[in-house]
Amino acid sequence: MKYKGSCHCGKIAFEAEGEITNAMSCNCSICSRKGSLLWFVPRDRLKYFGSEEDLSTYTFNKHVIKHRFCPTCGIHPFAEAVDPKSGQPTAAINIRCLEGIDLESVPVKHFNGREM
Ligand SMILES: [Zn+2]
Repeated sequence: MKYKGSCHCGKIAFEAEGEITNAMSCNCSICSRKGSLLWFVPRDRLKYFGSEEDLSTYTFNKHVIKHRFCPTCGIHPFAEAVDPKSGQPTAAINIRCLEGIDLESVPVKHFNGREM
């Protein structure tokens, strides 16, 4: 299944492919502020449209996760990183930014990411 997503103003438009079987709610310092519901896909299943200048990047702590956000509307639609277990490039999609998705139907797993 292909999902379309965007930030609020529409500068960042993207597509992600896969099955959403669950989403992760994390309590680390950044996720708790953003309120993201994360869905993990291999990085090559995420395609974004537009130029790099339309995509701002925030990193902190070990600077291994690229938190991508829109410089205009401030919405964080996804993050990119290398999975430490598999070594594979991975994207964490904020499913709140996807179109046509029934958030209530997605089981949410709670993750204790305090150390992140
Ligand atoms: Zn925007």
